[in-house]
Amino acid sequence: MINFIKSIIISIAFFIIIIFPYKTSSSSLEFHKKISINRDDFVKRSLKSKRTSLNNNFQIIFTCGIDDKKLCDNAQKGFESAGQIITSTISFKNPIIVNASFYDFCKTDNQCSNDNEIVAGGASPAKIITLTDNDGIKRNYPQALVKQLQFERYPDFGPFDISAKFNSEVNYWFEGDNSPIKSDQTDFILIVLHEFIHGLGFVSSWNDFFNFINPQELTPVPSVAIINSGISFNGFIENIFDKYLIFLSSGDSITNITTKINTIVKEKGNFYQSPENFIITFKSSTQYQQSQMMLEIATTPFSLGFLPNNAANNLSNAIILETTLNPFKTGSSLGHVDLKTYANTSDFLMTYIQNSGMTLGDYISISGNYTGGPIGPKLRQVLGTMGYDIKESYFSPFIPSVSLKKVSATTKISNNLDSIIIILPIFLIFNFII
Ligand SMILES: [Zn+2]
Repeated sequence: MINFIKSIIISIAFFIIIIFPYKTSSSSLEFHKKISINRDDFVKRSLKSKRTSLNNNFQIIFTCGIDDKKLCDNAQKGFESAGQIITSTISFKNPIIVNASFYDFCKTDNQCSNDNEIVAGGASPAKIITLTDNDGIKRNYPQALVKQLQFERYPDFGPFDISAKFNSEVNYWFEGDNSPIKSDQTDFILIVLHEFIHGLGFVSSWNDFFNFINPQELTPVPSVAIINSGISFNGFIENIFDKYLIFLSSGDSITNITTKINTIVKEKGNFYQSPENFIITFKSSTQYQQSQMMLEIATTPFSLGFLPNNAANNLSNAIILETTLNPFKTGSSLGHVDLKTYANTSDFLMTYIQNSGMTLGDYISISGNYTGGPIGPKLRQVLGTMGYDIKESYFSPFIPSVSLKKVSATTKISNNLDSIIIILPIFLIFNFII
């Protein structure tokens, strides 16, 4: 149990993975599965790593674990292109270093596909740093973001900012493939770009850390230290993303709920003989009711939003988060924008489902060819609010392919999209690693 909690604190709140429902499935949500990743694999393959630089501000340290050179080259180019899109949108003061690997998950990690699903891969911050915020509250920051903030003295950094690994056995379509994308193929750049955004910190900490399979309540990440005779519980810690979350009904900050839940530390003290001991105490406390309320809110549509710092407290400017899934889905709920609201808009990128058979260019085309590129206007606000320096104008590093039949009117495009979604049986789902 101690190891369980320890591993949670190290990685869970930020670690993202994607899982494909595989072959034919009519109900994509039934195929969630939680799989852990062995980070040692990055070390094992380090000899084959290649450093490639774009403009030195988003560096991909690429490792390919398969013999198919063409596939390796395609994957490397995909990582690089996603990085170029990001550096065309964000001005990095210090370079972001990505540990990117592409290999056969089944052969190397024994994560094999079954009849229903195949693990596609994912990305996350490689290191999380806890900082005291300007409101006096400690929050977890991804290292990539800490590097962009102004400090007199920086904390110790790890070698990588983002860890990304993708499964070479997935039927990806790559920009530059001679044939158009097929209905069962997924555009590699599209999902790498989505995952890189998570790696930059677009992820909520709110989760059920005591029961991932069947969530009963939600809290930010429990901060626990192992001491000789038991554990020291030091409160629940939000991610920097969570600082800007509000109830859409009232505009009240979610941080107020965190503060209320954390009063348990003063009330019951820090020391517990075991993690189980803490859980029992927490579940019988008055603070626990707040965390139960959070689960209810997080499974009620249009209930939570991200209020960007230029919103002037106008709730209509809040970005609506994904809270339609019930039961709560770890990794899909909260850490994405609302699918129904944003699927056909220029902010499509951070919805939790991506359709196969559609290229990044298709998504951009359908959503009206936003001049700011694949990172939509609201996503820019989120990243800017968290502390990234967003460029005012966007110069596309490349022109993504468009495979859809030509359509002229916007209304017609929407109709076409509906039929496309119905036809395609396979969806891509973004999920957490546990
Ligand atoms: Zn995601």
